[in-house]
Amino acid sequence: GNMNLEKCPKCDAKYLRDYDTEGNRKHYTGRRCDKPSCRGRLKDSIINFGEDLPEDELNKALDHAGKADLCLVLGSSLSVTPATDIPERVVENKQKLVIGNLQRTPFHKNATLNIHAFSDVIMQGVMQRLNIPIPPWILRRRVHITCSQDLNNENQKRILIEGRDPNNPDIPFTLFDNIEIIVNQKVIQKLIHQPFAFDLSDCDQQSITIRLHFFGHYNEIPFDLTYANLSNISNNEQFYLLYNPIEGQWRKVTGSDE
Ligand SMILES: [Zn+2]
Repeated sequence: GNMNLEKCPKCDAKYLRDYDTEGNRKHYTGRRCDKPSCRGRLKDSIINFGEDLPEDELNKALDHAGKADLCLVLGSSLSVTPATDIPERVVENKQKLVIGNLQRTPFHKNATLNIHAFSDVIMQGVMQRLNIPIPPWILRRRVHITCSQDLNNENQKRILIEGRDPNNPDIPFTLFDNIEIIVNQKVIQKLIHQPFAFDLSDCDQQSITIRLHFFGHYNEIPFDLTYANLSNISNNEQFYLLYNPIEGQWRKVTGSDE
């Protein structure tokens, strides 16, 4: 499962959240589908002990296990079916099974090699032997900003700020704890929940800063988007924000020039 992913059982829409989505015993999170025509009750995608694994993912894994000549298990007690069917298939095919787990597993005797160590240590060793440098971990966020004209007031515009899944822009991603609009060093508007839609009027051509505040799981600092004035905000802007937690800095990139 994925603690950050909610699904709509009615229309299959997915919603990513930068917080724990765990719902009640029946997985209902208390939130509803954003689609006005649906409004289905969203469910978390956490898999509890005794619950079935998602069929598609499990079948794909079994398919790969059938073709693999080496299977590396990391950090699993290998004591719950059907997940254990994956290494079992590799053993049946007389291929190599390597288990990395602190404790001994029921597959101990079937394994070609048992490594009792932390997964991080094992992977560092694997990468070293493969001669592949481990790249620094970078947090990657996708932001969409749309700016539309108010039909009743030519000086007024509506700005909508949304997070999206960087790997699939169709999936909304709740990324912001709050967003502030700053004019003349003063916070003139602040929203603490979605939708992050602001109505702004451009009477005196002042510069506008949109300050994005994140949930801070990686100690992310806020990111400022500054525009010379309201008309400088394009109708549709899409970009990525990359954060290096060690440097503590955001970098804005557009398209795929990462
Ligand atoms: Zn729905």
